[in-house]
Amino acid sequence: MLKLDFHPAGRHFLQIPGPSPVPDRILRAMSYPTIDHRGPEFGALGLKVLDGIKKIFKTSQPVVIYPASGTGAWEAALCNTLSPGDAVLMYETGHFATLWKKMAENLGLKPEFLGLPGVEGWRRGVQADMIEARLRADSNHSIKAVCVVHNETSTGVTSDIAAVRRAIDAAGHPALLMVDTISGLASADYRHDEWGVDVTVSGSQKGLMLPPGISFNAISPKAMKAHQSAKLPCAFWDWTDIVEMNKQGYWPYTPNTNLLYGLSESLEMILGEGLDNVFARHQRLAAACRAAVTAWGLEIQCADPAVYSPVLTGVIMPEGVDADAVRKLIYEHFDMSLGTGLGKVKGRMFRIGHLGECNDLTLMATLSGCEMGLKLAGVPLKASGVAAAMDYLTSHVAKPSLKAAA
Ligand SMILES: *Cc1c(COP(=O)(O)O)cnc(C)c1O
Repeated sequence: MLKLDFHPAGRHFLQIPGPSPVPDRILRAMSYPTIDHRGPEFGALGLKVLDGIKKIFKTSQPVVIYPASGTGAWEAALCNTLSPGDAVLMYETGHFATLWKKMAENLGLKPEFLGLPGVEGWRRGVQADMIEARLRADSNHSIKAVCVVHNETSTGVTSDIAAVRRAIDAAGHPALLMVDTISGLASADYRHDEWGVDVTVSGSQKGLMLPPGISFNAISPKAMKAHQSAKLPCAFWDWTDIVEMNKQGYWPYTPNTNLLYGLSESLEMILGEGLDNVFARHQRLAAACRAAVTAWGLEIQCADPAVYSPVLTGVIMPEGVDADAVRKLIYEHFDMSLGTGLGKVKGRMFRIGHLGECNDLTLMATLSGCEMGLKLAGVPLKASGVAAAMDYLTSHVAKPSLKAAA
């Protein structure tokens, strides 16, 4: 049985691709007293986070913040814009795309799943040409929305959303574009307005470095218009009252006050570092992580270098090695959590998260834990991945962040 009073020395390494480690600065901000959610201080906090979060989505349109996990914001995107029986085109990039499709079915929509056959589809990004061809064939425009996952957390593949937009436009199709960037936001480049996304769904516990518990819908004018005639039952998630009350910094119900303190702090940290610097940091750490995996002689889950995820790396185990047994060993010996293989790739691979509160030394410690664990598990390694990652980091030196701050 788990002994809750047992405390191993040092920090636990939470290297799963969400929830990601929460910086002390955010934890402290969240410990402020819970205030009156109808009072004046709250209104100021509400306005600050509602405005700041738009910068992260790169939008000038409303972003709704729900006191719910990402799954709630998935449901909100669908029920606010669609009607029972509507056809929805979804794309199978991995486990999370599969869950969103199942939700669409449960809501009474008619999702159609595009994708490459077998496990191959779980190693590549969204094939925009397949979406274009399917939309061209839909000459009576029965498809009401195209739904894709930007950063597929189960595989470590980041799809090209601008290409999906171009595919929809090339087909001259009026379907809404809905994108899940629950694990991509604030780690991977994302542009809600520029890419013409109608609803973007995201969550708190990944790139924003917050605990789980709040999630988002960024809403285009076209999605807001679709909302006026949408017929799916939608009450708690309904955008209309929320967007109206958000104008003064308030919510129609009790919002998650302390998580909003955390969000306010997270926005200051991310915008203070600069979004582009945040993206570059993630790209660099991800490249170092891949250098390690390649040096070990292991295969990366993402098979297309053009869509490698800056957020996480999926590591495929050699035939006959149970990836979850390796994870368990690493957890028990080195107090580090890695992501499990989900769905079709369960037991075949594990996932290393390198997002949010992560720097060169966090990554190096993480890779050391992986390398020691792989050795203990008897997995044959070609060379030291730790050495390869250090070589990468020292030959791709980043701007010294402490010197810049001094
Ligand atoms: C984490 C995640 C979800 C699920 O979000 P919850 O907060 O667990 O409900 C959905 N999609 C993607 C891509 C995710 O990474």
